[in-house]
Amino acid sequence: MKQDTPDISNGNNSKVSFRFYAELNDFLRIERRQEVFDYPFHGPLTIREAIESLGIPHTNVDLVLVNGQPVDFTRKLRNNDFISVYPVFETFDISDISKIRRSPLRIPRFVVDAHLGKLAKYLRIMGFDSLYRNDYRDDEIRFIASLQHRIILTRDKELLMSKKVNHGYYVRSVVFKEQVVEVLNKFDLYSGIKPLSRCIICNHKLHKVSVASLSDKINPEIGSSFDEFFKCRNCKKIYWKGSHYKRMSQYIEQFLLYNPGKL
Ligand SMILES: [Zn+2]
Repeated sequence: MKQDTPDISNGNNSKVSFRFYAELNDFLRIERRQEVFDYPFHGPLTIREAIESLGIPHTNVDLVLVNGQPVDFTRKLRNNDFISVYPVFETFDISDISKIRRSPLRIPRFVVDAHLGKLAKYLRIMGFDSLYRNDYRDDEIRFIASLQHRIILTRDKELLMSKKVNHGYYVRSVVFKEQVVEVLNKFDLYSGIKPLSRCIICNHKLHKVSVASLSDKINPEIGSSFDEFFKCRNCKKIYWKGSHYKRMSQYIEQFLLYNPGKL
């Protein structure tokens, strides 16, 4: 009598086939990139455990198909499964077929790991909601991300390899300008850039204020030289389009040059 696919808990020589797509291949050993490869296993193992054992943070995965059907991370491997794994598609909607995310993120908000301060600063300069402290602990970052539905940006894969993490992105580059461009591309943020909308110091939104309301807080020469002023109601810092702003704008123009097609 023909048996069904054996339960993995009984099999000593079980195997599945994996194929990883797009940038997920960056995490794999060279001989496994862009190829179907066998993955032997013993005992019960979930999709998430198998994927992470191959060095891929599950937060970078948005869709897993087993034998052509979408599954979630808790699905157990079964002998001879064919598993296709796709990266996080934040830039277009796969919510109809993906079973992995409870709800896709549409307005990206970030919590940035302690070693990526310059990236956080420039995300704020461009107006993106980016929480950051240089003394964040891993568990704090995971907690904030989960509580506030934020995407974790980090260069620490271990931080992303946790059941508690739902959305995260492993930043590839170590050069900060490239990191900014990488994040702009990854999350398709070009159309959302709004300089002078968020406080660089504390991440709160900025509000336009009249020069009259600032009379005792800024140099009169500055007050008479510029038309527009913005204030952070949280830390009280005042912004205007002075030399600082011009330097920041030049930076932003450089970032945009990397991807003029997105403008
Ligand atoms: Zn502030």
